[in-house]
Amino acid sequence: MKIIMLGAPGAGKGTQAKKIAEKYQIPHISTGDIFRANIKDGTELGKKAKTYMDQGLLVPDELVCDLVVDRVKQDDCRNGYILDGFPRTIPQAESLDAALGQMGESLDFAINVDVPDEHIVNRMSGRRACVGCGATYHTVYAPTKKEGVCDVCGAELILRDDDKPETVQKRLSVYHDQTQPLIDYYRGKGILKDVDGTKDMDVVFQAITDILGA
Ligand code: ADP
Ligand code: AMP
Repeated sequence: MKIIMLGAPGAGKGTQAKKIAEKYQIPHISTGDIFRANIKDGTELGKKAKTYMDQGLLVPDELVCDLVVDRVKQDDCRNGYILDGFPRTIPQAESLDAALGQMGESLDFAINVDVPDEHIVNRMSGRRACVGCGATYHTVYAPTKKEGVCDVCGAELILRDDDKPETVQKRLSVYHDQTQPLIDYYRGKGILKDVDGTKDMDVVFQAITDILGA
């Protein structure tokens, strides 16, 4: 099963993608996580990506597309995968389609987690990320057992620089300009499925599994 997650920053794509990956035993591929790992490791890619991410801008397509196409060709993707945060532009979607077409494959579902802008700042200002393992929490909706400490690995939690309100506004406007058009793109291909992302996480997950099947 080959799935992509669409939705505004903070809509809950990563939260749901992790649960889907676990239930259907397919890899969760988050381009944001890949860039953050590269920033942490101080790689050339990480240095380049950081300059865009810190401003709330998208990393240029040429730094993202080959990376994802190489990743989905790996052995663990044989039975499918879930892409979270990719594609984010029409050229990215076209490059993925072209690469899949060459392999005789295509996407099965584009899940659009629909959350209006007025909820997003609240979601993102409360999001906390673990500096150790990257796990994500929310101060109100998904709190850790001990405040400020990751349940999984015990490391410290931080507010991501790009989750600060001034950057969130920029990311939202970039989303509307560059990523939202993908909704119509995938609707045109007949694989778009909308879910109401304002509901509780478990309700959203149930709606997604109803779409994907047992
Ligand atoms: P995205 O991957 O789309 O940027 P996340 O999955 O990281 O978004 O979710 C953003 C924040 O909102 C996180 O702090 C997460 O814990 C919280 N969150 C995710 N889904 C829900 C939900 N259905 N209700 C309330 N909070 C949620
Ligand atoms: P995310 O963790 O998905 O919210 O991504 C964090 C940031 O990484 C985004 O705001 C972008 O700057 C960058 N990024 C992640 N995925 C992509 C992508 N597919 N195309 C361009 N930039 C991306």
